[in-house]
Amino acid sequence: MEPNQIDTYLKTLSLHRMREIYQQEAENAANTKLSYQDYLLRLLEQQVLSKIDRSINRKVQLAAFPQLKRLEEFDFSYQPKINEQLIRELASLDFLKTAKNILFIGPPGVGKTHLAISLGIKATQARKSVLFFTAEQLTQVLASAEVSGRLNKTLEDLTRVDLLIIDELGYLSLTKQTAKLFFQLVSKRYEKGAIIITSNKPFEQWGEIFADDVVASAILDRLLHHSYPFLINGKSFRMKNISKSN
Ligand code: ADP
Ligand code: MG
Repeated sequence: MEPNQIDTYLKTLSLHRMREIYQQEAENAANTKLSYQDYLLRLLEQQVLSKIDRSINRKVQLAAFPQLKRLEEFDFSYQPKINEQLIRELASLDFLKTAKNILFIGPPGVGKTHLAISLGIKATQARKSVLFFTAEQLTQVLASAEVSGRLNKTLEDLTRVDLLIIDELGYLSLTKQTAKLFFQLVSKRYEKGAIIITSNKPFEQWGEIFADDVVASAILDRLLHHSYPFLINGKSFRMKNISKSN
């Protein structure tokens, strides 16, 4: 198709951001061997981002979400164990004011990260500051802050942010030392700021994550005291189309 015809269609549909970038992105996609779907995804993501006003856009970028996932895209019928009503209430963000935590626990593919990101995006839309880390990234941030003598400052920064999201706790075990840093962070935010955590490990196995049962239960105590735990044990969404074709 001629580029100018694409231009015309995108203009008709008011997809202005896509119109600005699709040619450059097509070149990039060709150079980096991006799949057709990933190219389309990039265009759509940029279009979605441009729709959100600029200050929110900035908050989304600062949050460093690995992907943009919306609550509106979440298919609750696929995961009936999740209390949809409660998630929708949480999306009104009262849990930020009351500094309550949300825990999504369950096997891979059940939508833990999706839900965490979509609540994070709701928070940015309310102009709240959000930081998204994998547990591994956060551990590295804390460990290197300690080495360079900036631990207190880093803990303060991480306490000041309105919503902290820690994804994939439990894929890697922490050392005793990093478990302690993690404990310090959770203690500092306790009753001050909300945390969303996702984990593939049930609470009984958190002792393994933190290399220490005592530290693990001290962390769990604080996280769970004011919290909404979601134990999700449904099917992996990644298997959705596979099981359909069988
Ligand atoms: P987890 O973090 O639990 O391993 P993800 O949240 O990464 O799972 O979900 C895996 C993929 O499936 C993501 O692309 C996510 O957007 C999608 N997904 C998972 N559950 C649902 C759902 N119920 N409705 C729509 N998409 C879903
Ligand atoms: Mg995940």
